[in-house]
Amino acid sequence: MAIDFGVEPEFQEKLDWIEEFVKTEIEPLDLYFRTTVSPFDKGNELAQGLVRPLQKKVQENELWACHIGPELGGRGYGQVKLAMMNEILGRSSWAPSVFGCQAPDSGNAEILAHYGTDEQKERYLAPLLRGEISTTYSMTEPQAGSDPAYFTCAAVRDGDEWVINGEKWFASNYRYAEFLIVMVITNPDVSVYQGSSMILVPAGADGLELIRDVHLGGGSSGADAGHAYLRFNDVRVPAENLLGDEGSGFKIAQTRLGGGRVHHGMRSVGMAQRALDMMCERVISRETKGSLIGEKQAIQHWIADSWIQIQQFRLQVLYTAWLIDQENETAAEHGGVGDYRKVRQHIAGVKVATPKVLIDVVYRALHSHGSLGVSSDMPLIGMWMTAPVMGIADGPTEVHKDTIAKTVLKGYTPYEGLFPSAHIPTRVEEARLHIEARIENEVANL
Ligand SMILES: Cc1cc2nc3c(=O)[nH]c(=O)nc-3n(C[C@H](O)[C@H](O)[C@H](O)COP(=O)(O)OP(=O)(O)OC[C@H]3O[C@@H](n4cnc5c(N)ncnc54)[C@H](O)[C@@H]3O)c2cc1C
Repeated sequence: MAIDFGVEPEFQEKLDWIEEFVKTEIEPLDLYFRTTVSPFDKGNELAQGLVRPLQKKVQENELWACHIGPELGGRGYGQVKLAMMNEILGRSSWAPSVFGCQAPDSGNAEILAHYGTDEQKERYLAPLLRGEISTTYSMTEPQAGSDPAYFTCAAVRDGDEWVINGEKWFASNYRYAEFLIVMVITNPDVSVYQGSSMILVPAGADGLELIRDVHLGGGSSGADAGHAYLRFNDVRVPAENLLGDEGSGFKIAQTRLGGGRVHHGMRSVGMAQRALDMMCERVISRETKGSLIGEKQAIQHWIADSWIQIQQFRLQVLYTAWLIDQENETAAEHGGVGDYRKVRQHIAGVKVATPKVLIDVVYRALHSHGSLGVSSDMPLIGMWMTAPVMGIADGPTEVHKDTIAKTVLKGYTPYEGLFPSAHIPTRVEEARLHIEARIENEVANL
């Protein structure tokens, strides 16, 4: 019997330390730089001067870049422990950067760790893992996002260089990125699943044009790194900038996005819990019509519903994290790399659940604060906007539901008969024949 919901005391100590550290040292950064500085802006000396000593403390506590294996400077704790950490870090926008596990850099680091050559690791991964640079992942195009079959941005080999032409869309943090990992078509004669590749492109390469930065919601603030609309005009990069094998772009994307989707889920558990915490504090602090808001039955049901939803979601995230750990361990025993695609039904489940939990729980918290909840005096409306974003970033909900349904249906076979296998008259007749045979053979011979 191997199911154990306990946390090792040594790791619980670390979680307790993280909780306190985030509250006392990192949340002040969230508030101080709220509208002025992005955590991805490594060129901001004031902010980075404040962040570096905190990162050092994280490293001393062996909690730096926990999504990466120890051979590359991370701890290699695995996804279950990362899930517990990320639940705490998800409460703050600066915390992931202070712990070296911020998206999209974490996914890009995973790609480089899995598929990079020694030279690529030295040049691109090492500074990323030292927290010195920000990076961009660029796959989506203006005419195509959820279906890569419509991608057209292409790279053509010319001597010892790749020449890239096309457009990319919503390339997050490009403004602060040192390099991009770009998905390009390298063989247009086969399907995108065999004909795409990943290429490293230094930001600001000749011919790489920033058409404009796009922002979420109503506009930008100084703290918003934005999402770039990019055009590649004959951008040339050395042949050795190819990541992994030519034609393996889609496989690499799955590695990256699989982890990223679960990490968003982990952080969203923390965000939902924070919303519920705010709601509970408020409703036991304010009265209307002669009683506390928290004594009204409608609000009590909302609290119960939210608690249940968060509990279910947390367990779903942890179970998926555990499955990924199992897959990685089995692959490592055979000298290989874990394949996220084997767990993709569960990852898709987390991806679909994430916006739903946030929409429900954050909305209840926001609503129970009344006018204050929808105002800029509280973080709730900002948290609520995260919900629809989570339903689109890394692929829309519908696509992930398709994945789940297809995988679930693979476990079933069509039934040959005119009526389904649960058809009661047919089953009653089968049962009658079975029982009568037993009566004849067993009871009659007593
Ligand atoms: C905050 C944020 C950050 C992002 N960062 C990056 C990044 O750094 N790099 C990057 O490359 N991309 C990034 N993206 C882009 C993201 O990956 C795409 O938005 C996503 O894949 C969806 O593509 P799309 O926007 O083109 O929507 P579309 O593909 O046009 O889909 C639009 C809608 O159509 C419906 N739909 C689509 N497919 C189906 C289907 N099979 N069945 C039923 N309905 C369907 C859904 O309702 C969907 O929401 C980011 C997006 C967001 C919101």
